[in-house]
Amino acid sequence: MSNQNKIEIQDPEVRQGNIIYCHFKCSGEVGEYFTENIFYLHHSESVEKIPKSILIIPVLANIAPVAWITGADIYVNEIDEEFLEALETIKISFKTMYPKHCFNGTIIFNTKRNNKDYGKEKCGLFFSGGVDSLTSFIRNRKEQPTLITVWGADIPLKKREFWNKVKNDITQFTNRHNLNTVYLKSNFRSFLNEKNLYKFSRNGLKNWWVSVQHGLGLVGLSAPLTYKNGIKKVYFASTPLISKDNKLSFVAWGSHPSIENNLKWGETEVELDGIELNRFEKLEIIANYIRDLNYDLKLRVCWKSNNESNCSTCEKCARTMAMLLIEGLNPSEHGFDMDNSLLQRMKSNKRFFAKINKHQWTMIQHKISEIIHNIDSEYYEFCNWILMVKFKRK
Ligand SMILES: [Zn+2]
Repeated sequence: MSNQNKIEIQDPEVRQGNIIYCHFKCSGEVGEYFTENIFYLHHSESVEKIPKSILIIPVLANIAPVAWITGADIYVNEIDEEFLEALETIKISFKTMYPKHCFNGTIIFNTKRNNKDYGKEKCGLFFSGGVDSLTSFIRNRKEQPTLITVWGADIPLKKREFWNKVKNDITQFTNRHNLNTVYLKSNFRSFLNEKNLYKFSRNGLKNWWVSVQHGLGLVGLSAPLTYKNGIKKVYFASTPLISKDNKLSFVAWGSHPSIENNLKWGETEVELDGIELNRFEKLEIIANYIRDLNYDLKLRVCWKSNNESNCSTCEKCARTMAMLLIEGLNPSEHGFDMDNSLLQRMKSNKRFFAKINKHQWTMIQHKISEIIHNIDSEYYEFCNWILMVKFKRK
């Protein structure tokens, strides 16, 4: 008997020259995990004359894991040969990562296409302006990557002002570096019923976005623009995968070498960049770059604040501010403010720097002690607190 739990995806269509629309129909349990039956992807440039087997990749990259975890089959008309192979490999990667969950289901297609001869040795990089993507840009800047920025991922679609601010900052950055940028807007996250998907948050799987979607789903959005611009390689910045004892730790996570590095379509390959670097090393690369260019570059590390660049009161902001200080840079020139409520929060919570291990904490203290503190500096008390606190870690 055929599987009654299934998703039938119609042929994608391009409207107004730059928006891909794709309707799909769910039968059976899998339907519970969508809020709507249409997927869209808006580009800041034209995406006409692109094969349907490439246009369908963004929606497939986001639907496939939902189908797998419910054991549903997917029906499509055309599919890219390389992408089909990648999906089969990535399905096994998820199965290995989350062995107690089901990752099953078949992709049933009419025609398999071989999309070649569009590559022009160009590369692309997913870019948010944060520490990870900025480091990847600096490392790969000689290749002049096309920057790809997405609205609908960390920034919800309803936060227009916030998006405009981010877009404005990134446009300034790309103008300065003479880079091509493509802005994407998609319901790829909001078309999923994240509340119902939360049901799978067990046995190592945290939430859908973090544990499953954000690698494959985000990178898949770039397929049409890579075809259009002849991009053969897409870089996706890795979050630090270094464990506390300085070894590569392959924890289960939606962005993982076994996911992005196996992702491909047509002539395009994907590389998870910066796996071997911890956050200190990334900040050092950024600080050197800032010094070389004498540059007032603004970092964006925190998404807690919806209007301003960084909240400057959370643990992640504080940790980045401390790392900039030990690199001899003034955080206030790079997207942070010395906020009094930060000091109060640090003083009331002795485990404030939760993501730093004992070795790293001692190193920060040592380096901070080497900086000559000016009592008039806005960071004087901040540094003093760091010097005084002895964390008792397990
Ligand atoms: Zn913050």
